[in-house]
Amino acid sequence: MDDPQALDFYRHQSDDLGARLLQAHHELRAARRDAYRQRAIARIIQRLYLLAGREPANRQADERLGEHLVALLVESLQIDCAAVLTQGSAGTLKVAHALGLDANFQLTLATPLSELPLNMTTQQVPPAVSERLRAQGLRQWLWTASPRSGMVLLIGLRRDQSPQVSLCFEDEDLAIAEAALCFFEATKLSVTDHLTDLVNRTRLQQVLEENLMRSQRYGTPFSVIMVDMDHFKRVNDEHGHQVGDEVLVCLAQVLVRNTRAVDVVGRWGGEEFLIVAPNTDLARAANLAEKLRTAIANSELPTVGFKTASLGVASYHQGDDCETMIGRSDAALYKAKRHGRNQVWY
Ligand code: GH3
Ligand code: MG
Ligand code: MG
Repeated sequence: MDDPQALDFYRHQSDDLGARLLQAHHELRAARRDAYRQRAIARIIQRLYLLAGREPANRQADERLGEHLVALLVESLQIDCAAVLTQGSAGTLKVAHALGLDANFQLTLATPLSELPLNMTTQQVPPAVSERLRAQGLRQWLWTASPRSGMVLLIGLRRDQSPQVSLCFEDEDLAIAEAALCFFEATKLSVTDHLTDLVNRTRLQQVLEENLMRSQRYGTPFSVIMVDMDHFKRVNDEHGHQVGDEVLVCLAQVLVRNTRAVDVVGRWGGEEFLIVAPNTDLARAANLAEKLRTAIANSELPTVGFKTASLGVASYHQGDDCETMIGRSDAALYKAKRHGRNQVWY
């Protein structure tokens, strides 16, 4: 391992994910055959690391990670099409990211994805699927699926034969596709909260650390806002857990809609959300928190109507670490609750 950016990225991952990424990295490296491929792959992998490791892992970053993944495959395997398909409703697969495949492309599977073989070549895919792929101009293809996350990585050729890659797939080509899928999946799954699709607590802690390091070094401000739903237990008690879950999903969307792309909105736990606002001092963060409080109170939620939240704000002080900052936002939140809820304290 001699790529400093890669090392830095792995260091920020949990042990298990770090190990999987390291393995993916080694497989990709092993697959490099000539100087051109080596340079091309190195360049794109580096962009992937930068995206995944340095930017907030919000939906936008995931989008870009997906785009780079398909670009990596097209360039390194010298193929005509690479796509990440995700499971849609009622047995459909739709394009999440693609190069060389129509963005509106959709497949309907007669057999559930979980019952199909994980890796399939041209000969093995169900006839209805191969018909659709041929209609897209593909002659040969391979797909590798992950039934757990409902994702399919598809790579294909329009020519009958490629001088560089035979789609009977030499082992190393398959290893690239698998490693890339593993990379994408591991990166995305490990930082996503599956109910709300926001980033999870693990990623929030990484983002906090990154902001702390930046502020310690450059003296720039940044703030955190802890949001806790008021009397959320009643929602579950009165309407059931499923309605509670739906409400949490809607609240997550309200928070995302009312923050900037550079702000990271995540689920801290249960009915608590945390917003990390880079380059934002206490006064501005308090304004943002007030905007969020109003937006929540004015949003009509499914089944339960209108609900409120309490918010605690804290800004970076010299010498802070994650615990002290979260501690101050928690203390402020506690005051907001004690003074009657539906309030911002800092
Ligand atoms: P307070 O205004 O003091 O914050 O009251 P509260 O009822 O919101 O706070 P409390 O901490 O007593 O309860 C939080 C409740 O949130 C507990 C649980 O019923 C609910 N909750 C936590 N996580 C989830 C979840 O993932 N789904 C659903 N449906 N409910 C959850
Ligand atoms: Mg709570
Ligand atoms: Mg609560």
